[in-house]
Amino acid sequence: MTPLVFATHNANKAKEIAAILNGMFEVKTLHDIGFLNEIIESGNTLEENASIKAHAIFAATSFNCFADDTGLLVQALNGAPGVHTARYAGPEKDAQQNNNKLLHALSEITDRNASFVSIIHLIFEGQSYCFKGELKGTIATEAIGSEGFGYDPIFIPLGSDRTLAQMSLQEKNAMSHRAIAFQKMLEFLTEKRN
Ligand code: IMP
Repeated sequence: MTPLVFATHNANKAKEIAAILNGMFEVKTLHDIGFLNEIIESGNTLEENASIKAHAIFAATSFNCFADDTGLLVQALNGAPGVHTARYAGPEKDAQQNNNKLLHALSEITDRNASFVSIIHLIFEGQSYCFKGELKGTIATEAIGSEGFGYDPIFIPLGSDRTLAQMSLQEKNAMSHRAIAFQKMLEFLTEKRN
């Protein structure tokens, strides 16, 4: 099966995408291909960071490969935390501290609109392609729920009265920013294969 490298060290993320790609490619992680260098995400946008990661892998291996980058964009904060989503409250990338910092930043603000955006940068047969998934919603006034990760306890998808952390993984995957972007890449690769 043709290898497709996912620029991640996270084996769970790789399993998730391997299931979506349905045996079409052999999804390999950076660990699988022995790529241990740290890739510095120095971009100013999610698009730039996904591109930097994918190009670093392609330059080193020439394999078909892709990288994803996700951010939470809060309208009243002019799109922050954006590219700084993982490290919003500090380099520890602590989810609870990130959530508390965001709740505090919005404590006096009524506009709580926000969206999760996932960008995938794919390099396939030497060409670059970009896929975007977005989940619109609002930031809750307190953290609720224990499922998921990251900002899930404070993010309420549009049309729902529950946070992502109150939903099952299946429910979240049916609407998530990441799932939408992956689905778009799947449709593209399926077409290329036919
Ligand atoms: P990454 O680009 O997938 O590593 O995501 C960057 C950061 O965004 C993570 O460290 C989380 O804080 C946050 N994040 C990404 N996806 C989600 C999600 O589905 N739910 C909640 N937080 C997320």
